[in-house]
Amino acid sequence: MPLIELKEVSKVFKQGATPINACDNIDMKIQPGEFVAIIGPSGSGKSTLLQLLGGLDGPTSGEITIDGHDIVKLKQSKLTEFRLRNIGFIFQHFNLIPTLTAEQNVESAIDKRSSNDRSTSRKMLANVGLESRAKHLPTRLSGGEQQRVAIARSLVNNPKIVLADEPTRNLDSETGAEIMELLAELNKNEGRTIIVVTHSSYVRKLADRLFEMNDGQLAEKE
Ligand code: ADP
Ligand code: MG
Repeated sequence: MPLIELKEVSKVFKQGATPINACDNIDMKIQPGEFVAIIGPSGSGKSTLLQLLGGLDGPTSGEITIDGHDIVKLKQSKLTEFRLRNIGFIFQHFNLIPTLTAEQNVESAIDKRSSNDRSTSRKMLANVGLESRAKHLPTRLSGGEQQRVAIARSLVNNPKIVLADEPTRNLDSETGAEIMELLAELNKNEGRTIIVVTHSSYVRKLADRLFEMNDGQLAEKE
């Protein structure tokens, strides 16, 4: 059974006179443990697709099944809980809280119902090679280090799925490659299913499958 399945998923934004088909009738199946990359020009619907995959936004039509759950039909509170437990998010701008240390940023994402605590945060930081930076504020960290903190934060509830929206966009190419390698390790060593939207051509070497978005339509590339 696929871990993620999209059937005829569309997202239309109605702003002004002409509706925008940000996602246009998308079918997609992702198996557990796959490392999937999505490329495509700016405005082609990549972020919208990732938001739908993560239940951050709902589709205009179509079905989205994740780990056997029809997430389109879940009530908001159930969806929030499902997301917390199953999906980690990584963004282009890192989205760290500036007044919290690296460790506190990771800790802030812990599911309150779990038994995870500061030691989990420490472990997660060590996992991304940042143990020695635990007490630093984001402003004292390089871009690559900030993104590592964000990755540690995304993993703190042990999600099966990690969604990353252009995680290397604000990094130089060498640091970007290191971050992609780190995501690939999380996939290979920990079996996490990873979907990354990226402009980096480097990801082609690492990903199991490559998709391209164009005007809201998704196509798999060889
Ligand atoms: P990408 O991530 O590939 O750059 P997006 O998914 O951000 O593309 O956007 C796809 C299209 O949908 C664009 O035309 C964008 O302007 C539009 N769009 C995205 N989000 C919204 C929104 N919340 N409201 C209206 N239009 C949106
Ligand atoms: Mg985008």
